[in-house]
Amino acid sequence: MIKNLTGVVVIVIGFNGLFRLIFVTFSVVILSGFSGSSYLKKRSSNDILPVSSIYDDFNVVFFGSSSFLIEAGATQLLIDGFVTRKKHMFIGRIAPDPYMIVDVIRRFRICTSKPHPAKICAHPKKRRLKAVIPVHGHYDHALDSTYFAAWANADLYGDTSIQVLKQASQEHSPGRTEFEWENFHFEDIFTDDKTGQNTRHLVIGDLKVTLIKTKHAKNIATSLLKPKTSERIRFPTKLRNMGLGVSVSVLVEYKNKRFLILPSAGPFVPSFKDGELAADVVFLGLGGLGLVWKHTRQDYWNNIINATDPKRVIPIHWDGDMVQFNKDKQKNFSVAPVQSFDSTLKFYEELASKRSKKIEIIFAPAEARFNPFSGLN
Ligand SMILES: [Zn+2]
Ligand SMILES: [Zn+2]
Repeated sequence: MIKNLTGVVVIVIGFNGLFRLIFVTFSVVILSGFSGSSYLKKRSSNDILPVSSIYDDFNVVFFGSSSFLIEAGATQLLIDGFVTRKKHMFIGRIAPDPYMIVDVIRRFRICTSKPHPAKICAHPKKRRLKAVIPVHGHYDHALDSTYFAAWANADLYGDTSIQVLKQASQEHSPGRTEFEWENFHFEDIFTDDKTGQNTRHLVIGDLKVTLIKTKHAKNIATSLLKPKTSERIRFPTKLRNMGLGVSVSVLVEYKNKRFLILPSAGPFVPSFKDGELAADVVFLGLGGLGLVWKHTRQDYWNNIINATDPKRVIPIHWDGDMVQFNKDKQKNFSVAPVQSFDSTLKFYEELASKRSKKIEIIFAPAEARFNPFSGLN
């Protein structure tokens, strides 16, 4: 019967038409089934942390993926700083967009000690960007990082996969004088490290920061990307050319409160002393978890929760990074396709509820200041 039906369809629309029909049907099923998330919509309306003020002593801004602006006292710190979000990046070549980057600098008052329009840096504490830390070399983390460092003369931390982006970025934006390519300091982390060292402790202004080497998630999508960025790249470049390099998680401490950013859902196997990674809040990367076995998802949760013992978990890296945030409707994230985000979230809700000590799973507002410790004792 099926064979006969296929024969009739082929006669009517031809092989090309049949191929197109299958492709369109498949696309519709994928998009309708995964990109809309009823559970996410429900949660995002009820469970978002409240927005805070630029004048508060401590703030975090979440830009999606694992990009964060952290503000503490007089210090601004940027994790990743990926803001060039455009459609169809998988198909075309990618490059940082200086207009999008400057837009974020102005809207969020990312400051530098250089002379600048007073309205950008009017904070009474003379807050300024001291450092930029891309968590690894993939485009959705490192693409724009050098621009922010060049804007503010901030220290850029990374390995060679990050370092090579400086020249590529400079060549990509001739004539843009707001970026000073010669003056920012590059700090090499973990490259050629023969000691087996897993952590690096830093003091960045008012913040204590620990970088922890962490394995990156492995799935069909990540296997297409290079393990390391080659010594010379030019923008625009193919997405796969931005290689992984060294991958880190970031523990941030301010006034005895700590949060951990775990960007990539890799096999987190902590070999740390008890309490060394204790954190009040964990920003938990969920990217790609819909593509792995259930027991892998469970191990990931158990390992990180046991190592940090958090009061709150904030899911990150589940959003579609090829769609710009809607500036007028800041609560609207779009969900990355083919992630099974709903089922991952429900699964982690169940695991959280089974724990004797309460763990709250809550969302961060998109592109707005908030305090991740808000409401915690
Ligand atoms: Zn990655
Ligand atoms: Zn990523």
